[in-house]
Amino acid sequence: MKPADERFRALSARLRDFHSLNTAAGLLEWDMEVLMPRAGGEGRALQFGAVMRAAHEIVVADETGRLVAELAEAAGAAAPDDADAANWRWAEREYRRRRRQPAAFVEELAAHCARAQEIWVRARAKNDYALFRPELERMLELKRRQAAYVGDFADPYDAWLEEYEPGMTTASVETLFAALKPGLVALVSAVAGRAEAARLPTLAGSFPVDRQRVFGMEVARAMGFDFERGRLDVSAHPFSAAIGRDDVRLTTRYREELPFSALFGVMHEAGHGLYEQNVSADLRHGPLCGGATMAAHESQSRLWENLVGRSRGFWKRFLPRFQELFPAAAGFDAEGMYRAVNRVERSFIRVEADELTYSLHVMLRFDLERALLSGSVSAAELPEAWAAKSREYLGVVPPDAARGVLQDVHWSAGLLGYFPTYAIGNMISVQLFEAAPKTEDYPVLLAWLRENVHRHGRKFGAEELVRRATGSAISPQPYLKYLSAKYGELYGL
Ligand code: ZN
Repeated sequence: MKPADERFRALSARLRDFHSLNTAAGLLEWDMEVLMPRAGGEGRALQFGAVMRAAHEIVVADETGRLVAELAEAAGAAAPDDADAANWRWAEREYRRRRRQPAAFVEELAAHCARAQEIWVRARAKNDYALFRPELERMLELKRRQAAYVGDFADPYDAWLEEYEPGMTTASVETLFAALKPGLVALVSAVAGRAEAARLPTLAGSFPVDRQRVFGMEVARAMGFDFERGRLDVSAHPFSAAIGRDDVRLTTRYREELPFSALFGVMHEAGHGLYEQNVSADLRHGPLCGGATMAAHESQSRLWENLVGRSRGFWKRFLPRFQELFPAAAGFDAEGMYRAVNRVERSFIRVEADELTYSLHVMLRFDLERALLSGSVSAAELPEAWAAKSREYLGVVPPDAARGVLQDVHWSAGLLGYFPTYAIGNMISVQLFEAAPKTEDYPVLLAWLRENVHRHGRKFGAEELVRRATGSAISPQPYLKYLSAKYGELYGL
């Protein structure tokens, strides 16, 4: 038998091929969202499906399985931050998850994701849920089949969750949410009761899109985002796509009357982008190049968007430039801007929600996804179920599908099981921010994040990463404490 290091090299060569195909699929997807003419959808679905199938076949090949089995002992004996051992852990999980999914099924699911996204964009623009519903029904059927292939879990939702948050179970998410929800709901209603008396200002006027773009890019650059290794474009739903650590694509969307929507969108996506750009260079051509888990990823986007962007320090620094670009802000001082960007509103749209209500939007989707998976809510009943949950969690009912069930890209893109990672990311963002040096100097903050989070890529799961960086387990308590202090002061609670 060949020596272990030679076999680790053979495994990592296979994973490099997987990673190349997977990022190529990411580029096809980015192009579909940003540049592709509408008529290209059918061909794109076939291309995407074929590339995803080829990537899948590398992971499930007998040769991968053989290497995974033979190297188990050597990987177990290696240091936890050893790259070969981390590669092996990734391969072991993916081999197990994918081995029982037939290649033809993987191709069919990927093609459907591409097709359904294209139809979702049209349905959302036309505010027409009926147009999207058959695609969602098909998606649910495919994702249920996928969960059944992946294996036996205590809760069928675990199979969906594991794709984005390996190491976490539905039960552990429920525990975190159960600890977060009462405190959040109480805070939101306390704030609602004080909204009249506190009178936080609103910024109104016209904010030309080309200037919003200029400002967003200046902020992203100040955060440390490297535009030599990345770019910013426009899409229906803001996202970031790492085609590699040296090619990171961010997107946003602009509305002339709402300057903060694009600004915080750009800061959010640039937070994801910084994670990708700062993974250690020696991991760059394999599947360890990326965020530890999606919750770890969201901790970075939410940290820059909220803890930096919605802070007093940020507005002290950026207000002069903001006013230069947008005369509508002329009457504001930094304190006024701080108060304006932290207005709490029970609103319909998750990506535009304030920090306080944001996680409630996530819990609504977590409940609905589990109901859709179990079949207790059908695609036909979804708008009604959404309305009921929205009333329960947020106290508002969306007036139409575009501001309700059609607002997120996730269910058209097959990203079921993803939503909980946003709320867990919020919790982690505060834990990391509190462990990082207290500074208004972004390069210093970025250096700490690079050292403690980014450079490790996918070597560790979220729990391990947070423990190494902060000394604590993932917990909702620091997040709740931070929200109480911040909004308590703003609203005089
Ligand atoms: Zn995000």
